[in-house]
Amino acid sequence: MRAKDRIPCIRIPGVPSEAVRTFVRFLYSSCYEKEAMKRFVLHLLVLSHTFSVPSLKRVCSEHLEHGLLTMENVIDALQLARMCDASRLELLCIRFIVNNFKSISTSEGWKVMRKTDPQLEQELLEYVVEADSRKQEKTKRIEERKIYLQLYDAMEALMHICKDGCRNIGPHDKVLKGGEGACNFPACKGLELLVRHFSSCKVRVPGGCTHCKRMWQLLELHSRMCGEPDVCKVPLCKHFKEKMKQQSKKDEVKWNLLVSKVMAAKATVNSLSKFKASGPYGININTW
Ligand SMILES: [Zn+2]
Ligand SMILES: [Zn+2]
Ligand SMILES: [Zn+2]
Repeated sequence: MRAKDRIPCIRIPGVPSEAVRTFVRFLYSSCYEKEAMKRFVLHLLVLSHTFSVPSLKRVCSEHLEHGLLTMENVIDALQLARMCDASRLELLCIRFIVNNFKSISTSEGWKVMRKTDPQLEQELLEYVVEADSRKQEKTKRIEERKIYLQLYDAMEALMHICKDGCRNIGPHDKVLKGGEGACNFPACKGLELLVRHFSSCKVRVPGGCTHCKRMWQLLELHSRMCGEPDVCKVPLCKHFKEKMKQQSKKDEVKWNLLVSKVMAAKATVNSLSKFKASGPYGININTW
């Protein structure tokens, strides 16, 4: 059967007679052979739309969604989904194309579409670019959150070292004894290196040495987050609280933002850890 004989409003190159047979069988029995569905799913989709058989349209869409959509037919499927008002299928096709863009953009279907419907090509390229930048933003957010979590862990380890005294470092045991492992605080080891450096560095002024500068920042961050500066054992806690009184508006905004991000990162992890266990982050003294 030629498409132009029966379906004057939709121009398709042709519908094989076997596809029409499958279609008619479905009309009478709601049954179909899997093999026929596999071969003629796109023809059946068009027929279901043209002759208003929503149940068949649903069946075709489901089969495409669950395995019949391929790198080779997805461009045709997308164009037909648009013609047949199958919006869910349309979205599935776009997602499939975006996820497999590299292979699909070299397929025959893509080459034909580029010539016949350059506007669609442009639209799909925009989807790909958009998805790519979303992916990059997500990676950036994850990396940022990792750094804020490292800072939170560093704050906890700092309190632990100054308040309880770590078994490797702190008021009760300043020298690391041979054979002793690091304690269970995830950031303790990184902080230990930093504190050891800080206590022996000759430069020791903010901005004078990268490691010392980081230590100053950590101590200031602690002070910003500390609610008990009068009884706090963390060095310079009170000093920074005093210094805060003369801070510029710009500094205040900067530090408040950092504190809120550190707290937010921790809150996110806490809520996520209800669903899955998350690994600890050791503080990396070369980041932030
Ligand atoms: Zn420790
Ligand atoms: Zn230093
Ligand atoms: Zn404090």
